Amino acid sequence: MLEEAERLNYIIGKAKETATLFGYKEVITPVVEPLELLAAKAGEEIRQRMFIFEDMGGRRVALRPEFTASIARLATTVLRNEPKPLRTLSVGSVYRYDEPQKGRYREFWQADFEVIGSSKPEADAEVILLANNLLKSVGLKGYALKLGHVGVLRNLLTQEGVDEKTQNAVLQRMDKKEYDVAFALVASEKCQTVLRGLLELKGNNAFETIQNLCCYVKPYPKALEAAEYLASVVKLVVESGCPIESVDPAFARGLEYYTGVIFEMYVPELGLALGGGGRYDKLIELFGGEPTPATGMAAGLDRIVIATEAQETKLQKQASKRTALVPIKEELRGEALKIAQMLRDAGVPVEFEVMGRKMAKALEDADKRKMDYVIIVGERELREGKVVVKDLAKRTQVEVEILGLAEKIRG
Ligand code: AMP
Repeated sequence: MLEEAERLNYIIGKAKETATLFGYKEVITPVVEPLELLAAKAGEEIRQRMFIFEDMGGRRVALRPEFTASIARLATTVLRNEPKPLRTLSVGSVYRYDEPQKGRYREFWQADFEVIGSSKPEADAEVILLANNLLKSVGLKGYALKLGHVGVLRNLLTQEGVDEKTQNAVLQRMDKKEYDVAFALVASEKCQTVLRGLLELKGNNAFETIQNLCCYVKPYPKALEAAEYLASVVKLVVESGCPIESVDPAFARGLEYYTGVIFEMYVPELGLALGGGGRYDKLIELFGGEPTPATGMAAGLDRIVIATEAQETKLQKQASKRTALVPIKEELRGEALKIAQMLRDAGVPVEFEVMGRKMAKALEDADKRKMDYVIIVGERELREGKVVVKDLAKRTQVEVEILGLAEKIRG
């Protein structure tokens, strides 16, 4: 538990550092939101998994299953007049009534990044590079990025006369790789065959796959446009030096609001996505804002924790020394607390002896906890303005002036 919390906080720290490096500003949104806001374009899959209840004012509300809807709403209200692009980060717990198992929880953590106001491939590329940076910064190795474009599927289905509701259901099934069920939802046999053909296009070389895709969808001009847009994003990402593992023409994601390029990240050690995202150009309009293009991604922090554990990734922490502070007798507790506070004011972490143990026991405990130092506050030393500092690793002890104590501990 302690180790997991430490890892989670470490990864949250990395998400915040990554956000700063890319110019994203943190916004804090409510955990409980009106149901209609969260349900608007979440997709059937997530709608059915929301924790919904009535509040004391009789309003239908839900625990947020993700951040994008809340951010899109902010973009139409308090952040409406912010210069574009608006780049946001949100970190927190989200809730979905998923079947609990390893890497799939009902309460989990996301770091969500959004870029609002750009319709350009540069913005899609930026979000993908940001995801890459985050995974690299937490020390993961061998992770893969998978890309697709929902516009290829949607435009193809639209041209084949499939209505939006059926399209949503088809994409939902395809997201779960239930291809037979998905394709059976469209009436036309020709359309089924075209969809099936998309599955065959997936190859190991991203550029080759896109070229094949562009040829394949030529009879569908809007789907072709989408494939060409995807090609320009892949080109930018690869040119910047970030490898793309695969382009998957039949790739779909559960959330309904996606309109463009979508992606997910994986590591070989875990069969579940570490994060994912994509373009959603219609969502802000849906919440009553001006038509505003946007793209973003959410990293699943619990899964990143699991991946770093599986890869035995060392946390690159700034090593801060652990110090215990023990008064030799009860009458010195007040003075000892004063010294502890002086050290904390100087930024030195101190763990005060609150168990009232005798010195031998306190030292034994400090050893067990792998402390670096124990500061012993004794009567004689105190009179001379000093304390005793025991270095537990070196098994030495020296008297140190209280005034220079912080420097001594910092080393
Ligand atoms: P989504 O909001 O569906 O795009 O999901 C973004 C990321 O959140 C996924 O790629 C996962 O890493 C993570 N995630 C989604 N559902 C769960 C869950 N039930 N438990 C843990 N992580 C999850």
